[in-house]
Amino acid sequence: MELDQFDIKFLPGVGPRKSKVLNEELSVFSALDLLRHYPFRYVDRTRFYKIRELNADMPFAQIKGQFVHFEKIGTGRTQRLSAAFSDGESLIELVWFKGIRYIDGKYKPGITYVVSGKPSLFNGKLNFVHPDIETLSELPPAEEMSFQPYYNTTEKMKNNFLNSKAIQKLMYPLVKKLENGIPETLPNYILEKFKLMNLTNSLINIHFPKDNQALTLARQRLKFEKLFYIQLDILRQRKWREQKFRGFVFSKVGDYFNTFYSNNLPFELTNAQKRVIKEIRADMNSGKQMNRLLQGDVGSGKTMVALLTMLIALDNNFQACLMAPTEILATQHFATISEQLGDMNVNIALLTGSTKKKERDKIHEQLLNGELQIIIGTHALIEDTVQFKNLGYVIIDEQHRFGVAQRSKLWGKNTQPPHILVMTATPIPRTLAMTIYGDLSVSVIDELPPGRKPIQTYHYYENKRNALLGFLRKQIDSGRQVYVVYPLIQESEKLDFRHLEEGFEYMKQVFPNYKISMVHGKMKPAEKDEHMQRFASGETQIMVATTVIEVGVNVPNASVMVIESAERFGLSQLHQLRGRVGRGADQAYCILLTKYELSSDTRKRMQIMTRTNDGFEISEADLQLRGPGDMEGTQQSGLPFQLKIADIARDNKMLELARNVAWDILEEDPNLTMDKNRILVNQLKKLRIGSVNWGVIS
Ligand code: ADP
Ligand code: MG
Repeated sequence: MELDQFDIKFLPGVGPRKSKVLNEELSVFSALDLLRHYPFRYVDRTRFYKIRELNADMPFAQIKGQFVHFEKIGTGRTQRLSAAFSDGESLIELVWFKGIRYIDGKYKPGITYVVSGKPSLFNGKLNFVHPDIETLSELPPAEEMSFQPYYNTTEKMKNNFLNSKAIQKLMYPLVKKLENGIPETLPNYILEKFKLMNLTNSLINIHFPKDNQALTLARQRLKFEKLFYIQLDILRQRKWREQKFRGFVFSKVGDYFNTFYSNNLPFELTNAQKRVIKEIRADMNSGKQMNRLLQGDVGSGKTMVALLTMLIALDNNFQACLMAPTEILATQHFATISEQLGDMNVNIALLTGSTKKKERDKIHEQLLNGELQIIIGTHALIEDTVQFKNLGYVIIDEQHRFGVAQRSKLWGKNTQPPHILVMTATPIPRTLAMTIYGDLSVSVIDELPPGRKPIQTYHYYENKRNALLGFLRKQIDSGRQVYVVYPLIQESEKLDFRHLEEGFEYMKQVFPNYKISMVHGKMKPAEKDEHMQRFASGETQIMVATTVIEVGVNVPNASVMVIESAERFGLSQLHQLRGRVGRGADQAYCILLTKYELSSDTRKRMQIMTRTNDGFEISEADLQLRGPGDMEGTQQSGLPFQLKIADIARDNKMLELARNVAWDILEEDPNLTMDKNRILVNQLKKLRIGSVNWGVIS
């Protein structure tokens, strides 16, 4: 039987219960799926460390020795079991918080054990928390010793006896079976041209490498395969789309644009803004439907680009829409743009979740009969009841906040899809953009409006709080305003809320003479707006908020951003928050407050923040630190494929190669009808089962 037909349930040692867990946790259904669950690390089990050689940066280490002493500390739920373990030279502590009853008494003095796991630092001393413990006879067979595979597992898997070692046990006989060979998934001519290892050998060696060289070759091939099919899929979709849909042609730049440009433009455009507008303009006139990503750091002036290019749509008798992720932001866009349009004869409206029924009905009607030319709003815009007479241009602001399905809905609002511009201040590194948005063209605003001073960023511990308060007082007394942001932890919104309210009370006590606004996600939109408005108009001096404040909000008079528990935020989020200040010509500050004990990653995050204001640098660093799966934005929008083995941050070159190969194939054989490419079509079909139609997603 083919391995991809072999239900995992019937694999010896699996059974219905574990197979269900494997289905749910890893999407592993067949024996082949399991083989495609690659180890994330290999450990040389022939190498034993001395306790004095250990340090907390090691991802894994094993030591050999004997137990000296066991002790239960504390009682009830906080009880822990602590053991002293000796390698004959020095002692180290082993700690258990769970399963104490099971561990206690299990290990005997005088017997040699192998202890393995990640050394960690607690109160300045190294220990192992919940280490693996084996007797010498329990160690893996000799041929697996130099490269013992380690597999990712989840909490639920572990609870069902599917830890890494159990996976290894399931894998071994399967890999043995592979020796008869399994069908190849890449055409021969590609394997030969790039000297790639065949699939059978790659799978064998990714799990149980013969040696380092075989492991490298196996990895290369599997990585290439993954990236290649992603690129082939994206590029094929793009070709398909270009063939199927023509784009609206916006042939002229007319009165709306020109009048605004000569009479209403409040400032000189930066060169970057001018360049980007030209790029968009060229797309709109090309006959192809535009799908463009506009990246520009916070404060780089994307809104003006949006407005000017919407006016081009109007000049060609099309309607335009601008969608923002939050009510606050949509409202602010509406206010700014209405004001900038001034007495120009443009029909513009705002549609959000809190638009009253009567107003909403009117908007629906006027969108349908074409009276409304520009509509600004939240995801209320994508509801089916919103229909246009002639929608020609869609702009999506802060696109990383929107789900893929939401975005794709905007396509259907005209018989022919409108031009699409997605704007983001979370710069996506080129490598990642190529993978997720392989079919988007990219424009970049790489220049801030003149006169901005770089924001000064400081990382403070709690002990500087008093000094900080004094500083805030000075800023406010000189007429400036201040943000204080508290983290939002999804698992416990209640707790957060308490942090925020406590923060609010605290600020009230410290600054009895100032007025304070508070905004959080649980507020009614109207209430939120009111507080925002009071802060924006300068009526309140301090804004205490959760991350709802993160996106786009513009209060140029605010000069300080204080981020409480900054260790809880990701890099791009910190950068976004910081971008709320420094929007005028005056010096602005960002203060990151953290607790004392920080992991080395967190410390790096703080260092990067204090070192640079460059969003692209930050986003590259973010990718390096966290890996793409974690990257803000990609989580919500969802990477189209799970990149198990290809870490796109590091595999830049491989990605380019995969893309070029895919490109060349499609140039020669656009519909993949040639015999030698049949294998590609089959494989694409298999990969696409259950996946979204990525072709119609911007
Ligand atoms: P973002 O790219 O973060 O959306 P905005 O469009 O909100 O940035 O612009 C930030 C601020 O800079 C706004 O107050 C805007 O009016 C101002 N601005 C935009 N472009 C320019 C420019 N060329 N010269 C001066 N100020 C500008
Ligand atoms: Mg913006």
